[in-house]
Amino acid sequence: MAITFKGGIHPPEEKHFSEKKAIEVLPVPDEVFILLSQHAGAPAKPLVKKGDSVKMGQKIGEAAGFISANVHSSVSGTVKKIDDVPHFLGGFSPAVIIENDGKDTPAEELVPHGDWKSLPRDEFAKIAAEAGIVGMGGAMFPMNVKLSPPNDKPIDTVIINGAECEPYLTADHRLMLEFPEKIIEGTQMIAFALGAKRVIIGIENNKPDAVKKMSEAAKETDIEVVAIKTKYPQGAEKQLINALTGREIPSGGLPFDVGCYVQNVGTAMALRDAVIDGKPLIERVTTVSGTVVREPKNFLVRVGTPIKDLLDAAGGAKSEIGKVISGGPMMGLAQWTMETPVTKGTSGVLFFPPESAKLGEETNCILCANCIDICPMRLMPTTIAHNAKAGKFDVAQSLGAMDCIECGSCSFVCPANIKLLQYIRWAKAEIRKMGK
Ligand code: SF4
Ligand code: SF4
Repeated sequence: MAITFKGGIHPPEEKHFSEKKAIEVLPVPDEVFILLSQHAGAPAKPLVKKGDSVKMGQKIGEAAGFISANVHSSVSGTVKKIDDVPHFLGGFSPAVIIENDGKDTPAEELVPHGDWKSLPRDEFAKIAAEAGIVGMGGAMFPMNVKLSPPNDKPIDTVIINGAECEPYLTADHRLMLEFPEKIIEGTQMIAFALGAKRVIIGIENNKPDAVKKMSEAAKETDIEVVAIKTKYPQGAEKQLINALTGREIPSGGLPFDVGCYVQNVGTAMALRDAVIDGKPLIERVTTVSGTVVREPKNFLVRVGTPIKDLLDAAGGAKSEIGKVISGGPMMGLAQWTMETPVTKGTSGVLFFPPESAKLGEETNCILCANCIDICPMRLMPTTIAHNAKAGKFDVAQSLGAMDCIECGSCSFVCPANIKLLQYIRWAKAEIRKMGK
């Protein structure tokens, strides 16, 4: 029986749209919009102003605190202004808007770091910080922070996440097929930096070609490449750790509480590129898919490219668009404009027809327990939602609302169309407000 965690669901995979499409380089736009907040934590502080010349890879925003990240220009050109632009989380947020001169003149600061095996272990966190590397699976947590666990929380196991369990998304799949050696080298660097003894790459078994390629690339190493069951949310940190090691992160805990470190395949490769090529995180692979896209594809995209450019490069829409999602359909976020720029965490941009934007009418709970059976965190979504609706946030908290990983599986299986995740998110926000 394939390795997996308890609970979870099987939404239609819909990978066929783009999984066979080799990564294409997206033409670089005339103007890029580099958000100063495209990571967990504090927005970066701008280091440039209107009229400044910038080079490709130049640091244009500096991390503003322990949890923050540097941002770099993805083109060479001139800073047009610093202004608010649409942010994928909603609303507007400051961005450095740069007129591209089309020359891609590299910044002087882009220097390779030499033989990585001779670098001190703590150097990798410094390089990740300087290169502005954040988790590219969507969480966008600064890599340098994860590479610096507390002294009393040693890491013995590094897990590289190649699950890509969200429907439609195929960016990580293509990376594993096209750049397996680079991912393996980045993985070795992470394990070396943390002094971890065991290294596992977990890939869902709906990608046998990626399992094969990665296994071949890892054959001279101690890295284990493991096929895991195709099930959502197999790529969530807690579920992946549980499936691959049997360890359970305690309530409110983090992977390092059980000696584990998890990072996605793209992020491992970004570390390799920063160390070997001196390259900051200024581009990423993004899937453009969805039922109305004429030619779904995987693109290598410069950070700061508006998502409308991605749709154009994928042949445009073959029918009316009613819903645009940044990320996957389960955990991604609906967009209100096509001007939103691609960030370091944009794993995909999906386009759907108007009928997919319609929400079914909510009816009464029929106590079927579907939501309880599938919750990967073993919560009682219906009871938490019921208490949130009644304003009983203390009770919602005591039922473990804060442990919800917001995977959306409960809403997906509810026959009564109850927006369970929405209520649970609301409860979490209220519990946070109460300072609990
Ligand atoms: S309660 Fe949270 S963790 Fe459980 S299924 Fe719903 S969204 Fe996922
Ligand atoms: S899945 Fe929906 S109908 Fe069934 S118990 Fe949960 S909330 Fe009620």
